[in-house]
Amino acid sequence: MPYRYRCRPCHAESAAEHPTRDGAEYDQAAHRDQVHGGLAPAGGDSVDRVHSHARGDRLLPRYSLAAGLVLLALVLANCWGR
Ligand SMILES: [Zn+2]
Repeated sequence: MPYRYRCRPCHAESAAEHPTRDGAEYDQAAHRDQVHGGLAPAGGDSVDRVHSHARGDRLLPRYSLAAGLVLLALVLANCWGR
């Protein structure tokens, strides 16, 4: 599951998702150094897991399920006539 760094006071987040937590923590350290003088931002920042529903990956399974139901209906309709 990928990770992403977010800084709440800046409304900023990693440009890319990282496959490991280490990558997002690297973004966190870089952002803190560049924007907050190496300190933790007062409003909080975090390294979060990016869930599949937040990325919009849910579209594929939804369409796959619909396609599967249509295929099942076609097979059943074809078998019913025999
Ligand atoms: Zn920030």
